[in-house]
Amino acid sequence: MSSVFVESGTLYIVATPIGNLTDISQRALDVLTHVDIIACEDTRHTQKLLSTYSIKNKTLSLHDHNERQRQDYVATLLQEGKSIALVSDAGTPLISDPGFYLVRHCRQLNLPVSPIPGACAAIAALSVAGLPTDRFSFEGFLPSKSGARQSTLANLLEEPRTMVFYDAPRRAIDTVEDIVKVLGGERQVVISRELTKTFETVHSDTAENLLAWLKEDPNQLKGEMVLIIEGNKIDPNAIPAKAIDTLKLLLEEMKPKKACAITAEIYGVKKNALYEIALSLK
Ligand code: SAM
Repeated sequence: MSSVFVESGTLYIVATPIGNLTDISQRALDVLTHVDIIACEDTRHTQKLLSTYSIKNKTLSLHDHNERQRQDYVATLLQEGKSIALVSDAGTPLISDPGFYLVRHCRQLNLPVSPIPGACAAIAALSVAGLPTDRFSFEGFLPSKSGARQSTLANLLEEPRTMVFYDAPRRAIDTVEDIVKVLGGERQVVISRELTKTFETVHSDTAENLLAWLKEDPNQLKGEMVLIIEGNKIDPNAIPAKAIDTLKLLLEEMKPKKACAITAEIYGVKKNALYEIALSLK
């Protein structure tokens, strides 16, 4: 049903706190109060938030294991004009949380889906990490097994953007060991643990130093954490291996000046740097 706070037939994606229960907007509270139904990842968990704000409303469970079966039911309720809020246990739904299938289904049916923005652990951690934020990549949860984790990291070896991961602190030592092994000990890594809670800790260092710090303090292996890894710093003067191969081939056919000019044109690298390589190849 429509009211000043909610439109009928609309699915609201409502962000909830990631620790401190006061990190929720007035609009989110209004929507949770006035929608017809709140779809929750865990109804008992959400009930604690609702009781804090004396919100009495109907809940419906919608989690990873029943989302695909529930999507038709939720869509029918919306088509009948009901307003529905979707919340997860903490933070923004769909961000490593249920909701993707439901939102996709509603959008395919042209049903209105509206965001009520708020907390998200990845963004909160990024905002205090002190690493570049102009471009970043959210990588979700790292695999729990070392082999899979190492190959995930290996695929990101050349990633120039800041990388954001969710991980369990009890795995932090193993994870940072893998970072040292695969990305090198010099990479800057930031661990943000228990954000907005009593034991909030944000610690930034090279992967190697961070590993020593984690090993010294078992308290750092508790709670919830976001791990942020600095992107690969690509040297703008670096010459790609393929450019050197091309240069070698061209040098067999023409004078160094021309070979360097052509290679520079193809790969967008500096002619002078190529000329130095050409001389060293002689
Ligand atoms: N949808 C949530 C969001 O918007 O952040 C994330 C849900 S995901 C299932 C839970 C993960 O988020 C945790 O394992 C942890 O990596 C991260 N996280 C959640 N709350 C956190 C907090 N207070 N401090 C640090 N990390 C947190």
